[in-house]
Amino acid sequence: MPPDDVMIAGTAEGDKVSEVSEQPRALRFAIIGAGMAGILSAIKLRENGYTDFTVFEKADRVGGTWRENTYPGLSCDVPSHLYSYSFAPTPEWNHRYSAGAEIQAYFERVAREHDITDEIRFGDEVTSSRFVDGRWRVETAGGHRDEFDVVIAATGVLHHPRYPDLDGLDDFEGAVFHSSRWDHDVKLDGARIGIVGTGSTAVQMTSALASRAGRLTLFQRTAQWIMPAENPPYSDDDKATFRTNPEQLAELRTNLTQMFDVFANAIVDADSPEMKMVAGMCLDNLESNVRDPELREALRPDYQAACKRLIVSPDFYEAIQQPNAELVTDRIERVEPAGVRTADGTLHELDVLVLATGFKTDAFMRPMTVIGRDGETLSRAWAARPNAYMSISIPDFPNFFMLNGPNGPVGNFSLIEVAELQFAYIMQLVEPLRSGEYREVSASQDAMEEHEAARVKAAEKTVWVTGCRSWYLDDRGIPATWPWSFDRFRSEMQRPRDGAFEYR
Ligand SMILES: Cc1cc2nc3c(=O)[nH]c(=O)nc-3n(C[C@H](O)[C@H](O)[C@H](O)COP(=O)(O)OP(=O)(O)OC[C@H]3O[C@@H](n4cnc5c(N)ncnc54)[C@H](O)[C@@H]3O)c2cc1C
Repeated sequence: MPPDDVMIAGTAEGDKVSEVSEQPRALRFAIIGAGMAGILSAIKLRENGYTDFTVFEKADRVGGTWRENTYPGLSCDVPSHLYSYSFAPTPEWNHRYSAGAEIQAYFERVAREHDITDEIRFGDEVTSSRFVDGRWRVETAGGHRDEFDVVIAATGVLHHPRYPDLDGLDDFEGAVFHSSRWDHDVKLDGARIGIVGTGSTAVQMTSALASRAGRLTLFQRTAQWIMPAENPPYSDDDKATFRTNPEQLAELRTNLTQMFDVFANAIVDADSPEMKMVAGMCLDNLESNVRDPELREALRPDYQAACKRLIVSPDFYEAIQQPNAELVTDRIERVEPAGVRTADGTLHELDVLVLATGFKTDAFMRPMTVIGRDGETLSRAWAARPNAYMSISIPDFPNFFMLNGPNGPVGNFSLIEVAELQFAYIMQLVEPLRSGEYREVSASQDAMEEHEAARVKAAEKTVWVTGCRSWYLDDRGIPATWPWSFDRFRSEMQRPRDGAFEYR
């Protein structure tokens, strides 16, 4: 229900509120994107009694991230039993941390078993959403037009590839591609492979490719702390136990959640004992496992652990120490037809160049045009940078909600739990629309500004501002993330705050 002190606009006779019927309405929903969050939305809408919805997906399959990223070594760094929907646990995960293809198969299966695949318009990108006369007019690249009461943008955060600005990239005569656009026709065995970047993706690829490449060259701009984490398989016996004892599976998930909470709470307090423990584990990993002192120094970051997104790997140090692997720390001068020339003048000859350079994390649903109430445009609202109250709602964009939107919890925990909590919150927001009491809901400007000011202040204590460059930081150097504990996030998501939303 809307809070008691919501602002109720338009009370004069003849305007919108007086037209509201207070009859239950069959709301129509558009869900944009059929990745983890879009699948979740479709399933949960039905569960909440909303049957009139369309899912728009520009690709030809569900899965989002896990459909797009197929690079060798791709794995989730949240344990499998935590990186699963709470309503669709599975005893069948093969490892503590799942491979990307297994996660993709999981999302495809969940979508199929919940019968939502037929509700998805595949191969149709939403190009614009306009709020006209109280409804959202949605248009797609394929020319489809429809109207909806509510839009849920489940368009992803790590979705638009970021390409590096390297001179001569187009002149390279070998194969070159972004890590999220892997070209499976390219031969890897025995090839001279170069990797640009040192984030989680580059580290996972190094581990997977070092034993296959003729020569593997990792171009490192910034060294990374590596958290050691073994990835043991679940045995047939383990899986049989989980199948017959769902309570044991539930207990495992609870334990993993508690373990992850320790970390999530540590990073928002850079001086906490837990953060020191994480730093100690990373340091010990480096000191104990990199034998050559020169290589060890080259791999030693000059900032605090977890300042950049912490990398989890059982075997990166082993891979980079293989005789055919090389770490290059000299700056890339340019790309030439035969390979990469570094600032020291060396030409590193290559057959394959992989750009593991991440994503444009501030794009969200753009380049889609979004026009809200009274012609307010998303380009204007986000001219400085993306923002949304609780990452979910933007003032003057009524009945338009985001999952995993700007400044939400991202980092080393399960974005599935984040999306599930956000979705349940959105369901509370739309309830008064369904009952017919109101027709529009969006965050108030005051609520967003207050939230943003508190968020920026709280970010000062986090580990993300302790002196490193990372994709967490916005153009001002302020982490574009949730700066409080994960418990606080769970508690905020329980119920919208009184007065934070305007209902009309
Ligand atoms: C390499 C990699 C590793 C990761 N590892 C982890 C991890 O360990 N733990 C973790 O929690 N998260 C991880 N993530 C984050 C991951 O993106 C999320 O966990 C999750 O998959 C996001 O789901 P989503 O549905 O929000 O977005 P996405 O999976 O990005 O899906 C968005 C979907 O929307 C579609 N779409 C976008 N715009 C439009 C449009 N205009 N019209 C129609 N369709 C559109 C896209 O095609 C896509 O299918 C990782 C991401 C990457 C890239």
